[in-house]
Amino acid sequence: MSPQPPPSVQEILNARSGEEMALNDRYLNPQMGRIVRTLGFDKVWTGGEGAHLVDSGGQRYLDLFGGYGVFAVGRNHPEVIEALEQVIAARTGNLPQLGVTLLSGVLAEQLLARAPGSVAAMVPANTGTEAVEAAIKIARAATGRARVLYAEHAFHGLTLGSLSLNGGVEFREGFGPLLPGCEAVGFGDLEALEHELSRGDVAAFVVEPIQGKGVNLPPAGYLAEAQRLCRQAGALFVCDEVQTGIARTGRFLDMVCVAKALSGGFVPIGAVLVSRAAFDSVFDGMERAVRHGSTFGGNDLAAAAALATLRVIDREGLLERAARVGALLMELTEPLVERFEVVSAVRGMGRRHRAAAVGARRAPPARALLPVGDGAALPRAQDLLPGGGPSHERDQGAARAHDRGVRGPALRRRPGADDRGRRALPRRARALRDAHRAAGGTRRALIAEPAVDLGARGRLHRRGWFGDGGGF
Ligand code: PLP
Repeated sequence: MSPQPPPSVQEILNARSGEEMALNDRYLNPQMGRIVRTLGFDKVWTGGEGAHLVDSGGQRYLDLFGGYGVFAVGRNHPEVIEALEQVIAARTGNLPQLGVTLLSGVLAEQLLARAPGSVAAMVPANTGTEAVEAAIKIARAATGRARVLYAEHAFHGLTLGSLSLNGGVEFREGFGPLLPGCEAVGFGDLEALEHELSRGDVAAFVVEPIQGKGVNLPPAGYLAEAQRLCRQAGALFVCDEVQTGIARTGRFLDMVCVAKALSGGFVPIGAVLVSRAAFDSVFDGMERAVRHGSTFGGNDLAAAAALATLRVIDREGLLERAARVGALLMELTEPLVERFEVVSAVRGMGRRHRAAAVGARRAPPARALLPVGDGAALPRAQDLLPGGGPSHERDQGAARAHDRGVRGPALRRRPGADDRGRRALPRRARALRDAHRAAGGTRRALIAEPAVDLGARGRLHRRGWFGDGGGF
């Protein structure tokens, strides 16, 4: 039987809402279906606005995932929508391929104007991992060297090259052999870096200014010194700002990878900002002009979304706001270390924050989906904690998983129980643990990075695009 022609978007939204989970389970990723059911996130999402998701019953939720970092200006920002509509209305000569376009050129101009003076050209991409892949290739071609260093616990994406720079076994396992010549050094360990660089065969050191997984901040002065060491050893210093923003990490940056929030939450985009020297040594003749690229790189819709996003960030002062919100979040969350047994540390900068839990295996899930009432009052910090509100203070066993009222069984282990023994955990607790682990370890974290509406204190946007990477 030949397939029916697809209905219009409006027809689909009207007629098939509610089929999301069934379609996912049948055609996409049933394991993801299990995760979202276990967490109680199997809502029918019918809308999004600013920091909030809205379900089919009209309930608004404070979205603590923030699309894994894409909603710097909030969901469905009208200015980004308007920019996309303008591109479509203008019927632009998009993607001429053997040709160049205006919007992509202006985006490069705008991004480079915000970046350190050491970078001078843009290589367009469509995602973060693609930007990192480009950086690896450019570094190898520019230096004629093969080795690439990365930091332990790093996350740079999940395609094969980026995965080779990934510090998490859970991501690497089963996909090898990965790219040869990629080696980890401790995040913050300048001695180890210097030692590896001393062999004289390193093409690049790729590093996040703040590690997204775990929100690990490097010691003061680390990034500047790492750059100096790379420069001294003839290796390129590549800053992965896909999660954090655009680097202000010093004078010797050779490449900056950007993506995520630049999308305005709408159109996938990525880019590598590259020093003139590195760029010209790779693209060094007409016959080599297309030796790296991507069919959709630099497309008009992505460029328009990115330009609108930059405009909103500037106009709404999101950079400054990120610094203010960061300070406020720290002020609100630092006392939790004293107050709750389960919180061992609070780390963060700008609007990336994380509260680490004591004994991650024992800790009950953090609440990553929080319903908000009319007027979106500030959730109490303890409501975001594993186990919920004050009645659960000091009770690590409470496993109130989320707003839907689903309660997991106590995760407290019997004395002497094997920490690692999956079988020692009740089935429901195991499911919750696996689901939260797959969802990015929220089980262990207070995720306070997305927008929080602070009511009387004014509406706060998610971290500013350019705020978090600054100041190192
Ligand atoms: N680099 C960093 C620092 C990231 O956090 C991520 C994604 O989380 C990536 C690269 C990969 O980006 P993408 O998912 O767009 O491929």
